[in-house]
Amino acid sequence: MFRPIVLLKTVRGEILRSREKAEIAVKKGIGWLALSPPFDSWVRCQLWTRVNVVYAHYVGKSVPYFADFYVGSTIERFARDLAALKKHFEFASLAEVVRQDPSRGKPSRPLLALTFDDGFDTLRNGVMEVLDHYAIRATSFVATSTIGNVNLMWRNKLSAIRALREESLYIGQYNSLMPKVGLPGISRGDELLPASRDWPMALKEELVDLLWRACDMPALEEFLDEHRPYFTWEGLERWLAAGHGVGLHTATHPFCSRLGTEGIRAEIEEPAALLKATLGLRFLPFSYPFGVRLGAAAERQLYEDGVFDCAFGINGLVPQGTPAYRLERASMEENLTFNVFGNVLLEGIRRPAGRRSAI
Ligand SMILES: [Zn+2]
Repeated sequence: MFRPIVLLKTVRGEILRSREKAEIAVKKGIGWLALSPPFDSWVRCQLWTRVNVVYAHYVGKSVPYFADFYVGSTIERFARDLAALKKHFEFASLAEVVRQDPSRGKPSRPLLALTFDDGFDTLRNGVMEVLDHYAIRATSFVATSTIGNVNLMWRNKLSAIRALREESLYIGQYNSLMPKVGLPGISRGDELLPASRDWPMALKEELVDLLWRACDMPALEEFLDEHRPYFTWEGLERWLAAGHGVGLHTATHPFCSRLGTEGIRAEIEEPAALLKATLGLRFLPFSYPFGVRLGAAAERQLYEDGVFDCAFGINGLVPQGTPAYRLERASMEENLTFNVFGNVLLEGIRRPAGRRSAI
């Protein structure tokens, strides 16, 4: 039977895929240019004027709870990327990079801080050894509701459902669930994660748990016991004792732009206080899930109230002098050379010549 909608969706998918491939190729080219004469020395100079922070998530072999986000970040690739970054930067703690303390003396290369989002345990999968090998002290941003593997974060649940269950099963169950919240269904498995971004944040835990059970997934406790994805509190103590840092990534990983007063209290203020009190933190950085920020006034207020010491999105490297509650980071999981070096070159080209800063 001829099904024009399916055909249209397939053609659209093909166009999107080839556009993605072209974009990756262009980014590779710009990244290569940024590190080639005559641009490389200008780009390196620019990096002295930036707050250089990169981020990653899970590192290791692909696992069900991260399969949807996995882009091949093996331990080997992670180690290679760190070695490459070390040629251009001096790794420093996040606090040092944010504060740019002049009493530290001028380093031989621009400072760079490494961060991890989502609180995956780095003690058991070889990441800690790699960091030790390169003498890098990183910061792990944790979602407090998952510490100790007492819950699986909702995006990780959705990824696990997709990795472990037939597409027709979870599509069917999703589509019978969505009318209850007035949202449309999906027709392809790869629409699950994007579609669930529209869920009301107050209902996301309930919806994902209903879908988990409807798809006959293993008992959550069993799954968590088998995989143990996240840091435990004891693990975080060990991580801190080894010189690394801990930051907040909310309690349950919502879209912060959709939080009201009560949501901000439950997702940011209370978990921030919990981390500080339990781990004795004197510097608490915050990273936004999905890189989606609160309104400007709300995040400034939290900063001024001392809830966190700085807040990060994921929009690339920002100039020094940017307020601590408006900081950003660059991804080191995909297109690393473009994200760190190429973007800086592009911004330089885009900026009118008269406004170019003296270097
Ligand atoms: Zn996250």
